[in-house]
Order: sequence, then structure tokens, then C-alpha cells
Amino acid sequence: MKIETKCIQSGYKPKSGEARVLPIYQSTTYKYDSAEHMGKLFDLEEDGYFYTRLANPTCGAVEEKIADLEGGVGAMLTSSGQAATLAAVMTIARAGDHIVCSNSVYGGTFNLLDVTLKKFGIDVTFVDPDAEAAEIGKAFKDNTKALLGETIANPALTVLDIEKFAKLAHSHGVPLIVDNTFATPVLCRPIEFGADIVIHSTSKYLDGHAVALGGVVVDSGNFDWAASGKFPEFTVPDESYHGVVYTEKFGRAAFIVKARAQLMRDMGFAPAPMNAFLLNLGTETLHLRMPRHSENALKVAEFLENDDRIAWVNYPGLASSKYKPLVDKYLPNGASGVVSFGIKGGREAAGRMLDAMELAAIVTHVADARTCALHPASTTHRQMTDEQLEECGVGADLIRLSVGIENAEDIIEDIKQALDKAVK
Ligand SMILES: *Cc1c(COP(=O)(O)O)cnc(C)c1O
Repeated sequence: MKIETKCIQSGYKPKSGEARVLPIYQSTTYKYDSAEHMGKLFDLEEDGYFYTRLANPTCGAVEEKIADLEGGVGAMLTSSGQAATLAAVMTIARAGDHIVCSNSVYGGTFNLLDVTLKKFGIDVTFVDPDAEAAEIGKAFKDNTKALLGETIANPALTVLDIEKFAKLAHSHGVPLIVDNTFATPVLCRPIEFGADIVIHSTSKYLDGHAVALGGVVVDSGNFDWAASGKFPEFTVPDESYHGVVYTEKFGRAAFIVKARAQLMRDMGFAPAPMNAFLLNLGTETLHLRMPRHSENALKVAEFLENDDRIAWVNYPGLASSKYKPLVDKYLPNGASGVVSFGIKGGREAAGRMLDAMELAAIVTHVADARTCALHPASTTHRQMTDEQLEECGVGADLIRLSVGIENAEDIIEDIKQALDKAVK
């Protein structure tokens, strides 16, 4: 099946007489006729449900759909995108290990690795994703267990050379984890380019309507944990699960089963069935929304580039972007919906422009159906001076626009009238 069909048909498969639409199994627990049957589930001897922290039929159907969309062997939904990143890293690495990560990743990912996971003994080295492979290779150590990058980084909008990153990771015997939140599997499927694990904040385009926080971890099934020799947790008996050896018992699904059996069990970042239901509705129209987000964003970026009140525009889909060759290779059907730009007149002009926007709402969220805008210098980063902002790559003049799926001319009209008011 093609991606459009998978968006609609994958996952939930009702039997004769069952609900046509994925039901919400609003139940923490499941009933069994014999203790022995339930015992088999606890021993991972049989598939089934016993407690919603570990698995739920509504969540399970959505996991199957997203695994199918990304081309993986299995997936695990989490309560948020942050939890998905945490689950992916902690299934692979433990205290004493090290991760190599692109330095332009989402701020939450950066903090998780740079601050919180360091407290748990997992170290990180950040690398410039645009550097030569040999240069990035210098960051790898004997205890490095994974490489991490973002297809289109939020909010830097750098585009990842996925094949370069995959080759680097594999030549060091470790998996590549790709955060595919901004691209979604409709615009790019990182597994086709060598990624081993794909993660998402589903709170963004996958849901697409800004109604449900969530995350997902997808396992390609392609990484050979045993052959690498670096991952004893996958190849020696897990005493917390009656001595199961994940690679032997679960083969290509070793990673995603271990993620659920150990981390979901012990950390409990489970999604609500209601949120999984809403996420499923969002995924049904993903293949219609992503091309429109991308088309609209390109039109907005081109308009901004031709307006002399604008100092600079960053959108990887622009012909003038240094990432255009990577977009042509990895994102041929569109570079997604987020555009950032600088307005002449700095912090004050940017603030005035945001206040003057009527269609675009001021929100910290990105990546839903409605156009929205953020001026970090007067909101999320307001405690920083212009100099400090410059240092962290978020200039005082920077406005981030998440271009929605309204009519592009209406969005551009709104930008025009706001610019007229902001720049005299
Ligand atoms: C928002 C976001 C996250 C974090 O996801 P939450 O659902 O907010 O926890 C992770 N990665 C990227 C790229 C994001 O945009």
C-alpha cells in the first residue's frame, strides 16, 4: 500500500460486526478466564493486554499504523515527545555510556542530554551536523552507544544528511536515532536512508490539530544488536524478565520489546487511550496536510524573501537555501511548514509585528493546522539580552512562523498588513 492508503487503513482492522472506527479502550485493565493465561502474558510468552501502562488496544492500533508509515517492525507510543527521546536513548545506553548528538536538535532534547541524562551518568558530545563525516567521527569514543539527529531541526531548520549520519553510526557499530517530528513519514522516511530508530513528538504534525500531547518510538528492526558486540543488555539474560534474551527471543523486534518491557514498565510514561484516538484521527489526514503545509510555507518564505523590510529568511525549501540539495534528496515532496525570519528594526519591530498579526496566533506551539507565530526575544527567551540571544542562535529580530493549512493568500495578506504596522 502507498503512504496515503496507509494513513487511513493501517493499524485498526475490525472484524465482522465490530466498530468501524477505532474504539477508545478506556480501561486500565483486562479480564482473563485463567491465571495461567495471564501468567503467559507476564512471561512475554503470549501477546495480549493486562495493564494499560504496558499496552492498550487503542494505543496498539496507532502504534501499528505509525510503524507501518515509517517502515518499521514495531512502535511504542509515549505520553510526550520528550518521553519518546528518553525511551529511545535509555533503551540503548546506561550509566558510563556516551551519545553523539547533532548540536541543532530541539531545545528539549538538548537539555535532556546535556543536563538531565548526565546526572544519570550518560554523557554526550554535540557535533555540527553540517561538518565533514571525518570531523564528526572524532566525537565517537569506545563507550559511544548511539548517534542522534533531527530530519528538519526545530527551530534551527537545519536538514540532516541522514545517509552521512547512518554511515558514521554504523561504522562505529552503533544505531542512528532520527527525530522525524517536522518531516513526518509523509515527507521523509529516515529508515529508507539507514536510520535504525525513529522518534517523534506526535504533539506536532502527526496529531496536527494541537489537541493531544504524545510521542512515539519506531524500531526499524535493521540494527544487529548482537553482531555489534556493544550491547550486552540485548544479548544476556534480563533477570527482571525471567532471564529473557531480547535478541534471541524477539529477533528484529528486540529493541522495541526491550523498550516496553523495561522502560515503559519501570518509568511509566504511557499515553492515554483518548490521546491515541485523537492521534489516530490526525494521522488519517497527514498525507493531505503535509503537502499543503509545505506549499504554503514555501509561498510565505518566497514572499518574505522579496520584501525589503525583511533582513533574512530561513526555510530549507527555498531555492536560495544552503539545504536545498539535501531537501531535493530527502524531502522531495516538501520541506514542511516552519519558516523563520528576521525583521529589520530588531526586537521592537518584531514585537510590533506579532502584536499586529490577526490570522496568526501568538503561541509557543508549532506544527498544527492553524498558522501561528512566536517571537522568542519577547516571550520564551525574554530574560536574555540581545547579545545572549545572538550567542544561542536566536537573534532578537527572529520570528518563527508555523504556517498552517489556511489559504496561502490570506496568510500572506496578514503578514503584509502586520509588516505595514511594524515597520514605518
Ligand atoms: C516538540 C518537540 C519535542 C518534544 O515533544 P513534546 O511532545 O513537546 O514532549 C521533541 N522533538 C521535537 C523535534 C519537537 O519539535
